[in-house]
Amino acid sequence: MTADATAVPEADWGRAVALVRAADTVALACHVTPDGDALGSMLGFGLALRAAGKHVVASFGDRGFTVPRLLRFLPGQDLLVEPAAYPAEPSLMMTFDASTMDRLGLLAPNAGKAAELVVVDHHVSNTRFGSLHLVDPGAASTTMLVERLAGRLGLTVDRDVATCLYAGLVTDTGSFRYSATTPAAHAMAGRLIAAGLDPDAIARELWDRSPFAYLRVLGAALDRVTLEPEGAGGRGLVWTYLTRVDRARHGLPYDEVEGVIDVIRRVDEAEVAVVLKEDDEGGWNVSTRSKGAVDVARACTALGGGGHPCAAGFSSTLSPEETMASLRPLLTPDAA
Ligand code: AMP
Ligand code: MN
Ligand code: MN
Repeated sequence: MTADATAVPEADWGRAVALVRAADTVALACHVTPDGDALGSMLGFGLALRAAGKHVVASFGDRGFTVPRLLRFLPGQDLLVEPAAYPAEPSLMMTFDASTMDRLGLLAPNAGKAAELVVVDHHVSNTRFGSLHLVDPGAASTTMLVERLAGRLGLTVDRDVATCLYAGLVTDTGSFRYSATTPAAHAMAGRLIAAGLDPDAIARELWDRSPFAYLRVLGAALDRVTLEPEGAGGRGLVWTYLTRVDRARHGLPYDEVEGVIDVIRRVDEAEVAVVLKEDDEGGWNVSTRSKGAVDVARACTALGGGGHPCAAGFSSTLSPEETMASLRPLLTPDAA
């Protein structure tokens, strides 16, 4: 999909600008277990707003609220409050990178009571759950919509804001490797780098470091990886799983295993890759990736999750085998 400057009607940009200008306090939220785009878009916008004199609170609705280790380098962490300290009935609330109300987790009731709820997102599957929607499925990342809104508000994109926005852009384009890598994505990267950020430091924080224990846990995942040549409609399915016992054995926190899918999805013999990850409470988060022929967002949405056609996920309380049994039949190639 290409970026479409008309995906958001001009009148909606105008309303968003008016709402933000009129507000003294703006309450920001991003999706649970935030990734670089969720946290980067929220904190980047929050920092720019605060520099313009607004009072800003930001949060995400995870039980056991912690910022993933990978994202602790992002500026603006001091904007964050725990869900319990979040305004119960915000006059203006804005959500980032969340495709549904559910993705706000513990903050969904706050969003339900907000006088105005501005939804900033780029998921095709966005359910338009707010009172105003800045949603462009053609945007490579939610941070791209934040840059447009900041521009319309006349906010300054300084080095810290740029660092947050760039983190979202490189996360969702896979460092300019995925199909979301448009001329607009590169042009935005150019503007952000010109604001003085440090691309190599950001890349190292996001992808090029891990505790040693990660290698042991990755080893466990690779030990039990399965290739099903007949899977995904005969195009090949590769999958594995990681238990909380695997992680406990080596002392590895849950937020360190996000990169396992990037190892699994590289195999030539499979169109679809799946990694099932058990969290500390015994729930499972399922990551799916496709090379383009199978719409994994459709499959994951059918199982209560969501995402993008080539990168999607859902939660499960079943065993890995049982979860795979419900997922397998949904992994069918699109009609040519
Ligand atoms: P992940 O595999 O966790 O990197 O997630 C890939 C993409 O799938 C994310 O960008 C989200 O858009 C989406 N996603 C993952 N888990 C869920 C979920 N439980 N519900 C809705 N969307 C999800
Ligand atoms: Mn996200
Ligand atoms: Mn995103």
